[in-house]
Amino acid sequence: MNTFCMQDCIFCKIVADELPSFKFYEDDHVLAFVDIMPVSVGHVLIIPKEHATNLYDATEESMTEAFRIAHRLGPKVADAFNADGFHLSMNNGEAAWQTVFHPHLHIIPRYEGDGHEPWQKIERTQEQLAEDAEKIRNALK
Ligand code: 5GP
Ligand code: ZN
Repeated sequence: MNTFCMQDCIFCKIVADELPSFKFYEDDHVLAFVDIMPVSVGHVLIIPKEHATNLYDATEESMTEAFRIAHRLGPKVADAFNADGFHLSMNNGEAAWQTVFHPHLHIIPRYEGDGHEPWQKIERTQEQLAEDAEKIRNALK
């Protein structure tokens, strides 16, 4: 167990080599490995080694390191599979499909015509969008 380890967290166990994974990158702060149930060929996860639940409580330092590696490796992962693009995504909270409660970035390669459903759009008027921006500005104060 490293100092960041959280008992019963499967990604902490992967960091500590107590569970197997197909790793392809590791440094002092970050680990990257293949998603065991991929949504597309080449789907991988980039995680900070430091345990937290998600972006709500992860430290800026740990996520900066994870995003830095995603920036560096994302295009290379996609190129390794001759993908035409890729999603960089992060699910935060059960309502947002999070199932493993240790921060992780998904790199999901996409292929022309692969048939993945695009994001479902909602109706929002210009006035509502303006109100939304105001709500966020107020939350940032
Ligand atoms: P989430 O839904 O929390 O954003 O994503 C969790 C991801 O972790 C899922 O895509 C799931 O397939 C993957 N996953 C869950 N358990 C394991 C595991 O034991 N090993 C690996 N490599 N991936 C896992
Ligand atoms: Zn953990």
